[in-house]
Amino acid sequence: MHQRSAHRSLLVVGSVALDDIDGPFGFHKDLLGGSASFIARAASYFTKNVSVVAVIGEDFPKRHVDEMSALGVDVAGIERAKGETFHWVGKYAPDLTTRETIDTRLGVFADFQPKLHDSHKNAQLVLLGNIDPALQLDVLSQVRAPALVAADTMNLWINIKRPDLEKMLAKVHTLMLNDEEARLLAEEHNLHRAAARILKLGPTSLIIKRGDAGALLFHGGGAFAAPAMPLADVKDPTGAGDSFAGGLMGYLAYAGDLSPSTIRTAMIMGSVMGSFAVEQFSVDGLRDLTTAKIQLRFDELAELAHFERVRL
Ligand code: AMP
Repeated sequence: MHQRSAHRSLLVVGSVALDDIDGPFGFHKDLLGGSASFIARAASYFTKNVSVVAVIGEDFPKRHVDEMSALGVDVAGIERAKGETFHWVGKYAPDLTTRETIDTRLGVFADFQPKLHDSHKNAQLVLLGNIDPALQLDVLSQVRAPALVAADTMNLWINIKRPDLEKMLAKVHTLMLNDEEARLLAEEHNLHRAAARILKLGPTSLIIKRGDAGALLFHGGGAFAAPAMPLADVKDPTGAGDSFAGGLMGYLAYAGDLSPSTIRTAMIMGSVMGSFAVEQFSVDGLRDLTTAKIQLRFDELAELAHFERVRL
C-alpha cells in the first residue's frame, strides 16, 4: 500500500484496558486489551492519521503507550488519571466460540470526561469503540463535521445503558455489533428482521459481526457478506471485533472515499485484520504485520469468496 498524504483523519475513542483471559490455552493475566488498543493498532497499518482518546490508570505500563506512539498513532488524547486502569476478565468455552464476562472493573473510566484537543475535533472519520455510550455521546458532541461516524457496543451497555445507547444511535451513520448483541438490541431473533429494526433507531448502515461466520453489512440499498478466513490456529478471539473495526475504518481513511465498492473492500480488510488478531493473545497477532502479509491474506480471502455468475 502506498502512502498518500490525502489520508483522512481517524479519531478513535474506546477502552484501553488490562485483560485477564481464561480459556483452553490457559489463564493469562494483565494482557493489554481494550477496544481502542486493537482498533488503533489495526488501523495503523493503513494510515498514520489515527488519534486515540481514552483514559488509563496509574498502574498502566508506559511501554504500551510508547508502542502505540511508535506505530505513528497520536496518543496525545490518552489521559493518565488517578486510580486503576479499566480491567476486564473473560472466560472462553473450550471451542472458543462463546465467552463469559467474569468481571468488569471500570476504574478510571467511571469518572472519565473526554476533552478533545482542537486537532481531534476536525476528524473526518470517527470510530466510537465499545465503551459507555454516555462517553461516546460526549465525544460526538465535541467533533465538528465528520464524514462518517461508526460505533461499536456490547451486551453490557444494551442491558444497563439503553437510553444513552439509543441517543447515540440516533447520531451515528454506522453501528457495528455481534449477532448476539443485535438480537438483544432488537429483541428479535431473526437477524434480517433485527437489522431492519436497528436501522429504524437511526444508523443508515449496520454491520453484524458473526465470529468465524464472517460479517454482514445491512443498509438501505441491500446487504453484503464478508467471509471470515478459515484459520488452522485460533488462540484468543478477544479483540477480533475491534480489529475488524480498525481494519475497516483504517482502510476507509486510506482510500479517501466512501463509495459502495470501497465500503465492501473495507469490510474485507476488517475481516483480514480480525483474522490476524485471533491467532495470538492480546494485540500480539497484530504485531509485526507487513503490507505484504496483509495483501496476501486479502488475496486469499478474495479467492475463497470468488465465484462466477452463471445463467441457468
Ligand atoms: P472484542 O473481543 O472485540 O469484543 O473486544 C474485547 C475487548 O473489549 C477487551 O480487550 C476488553 O478490554 C474490552 N471490553 C470488554 N468489556 C468492555 C466494556 N464494558 N467497555 C469497554 N471495553 C470493554
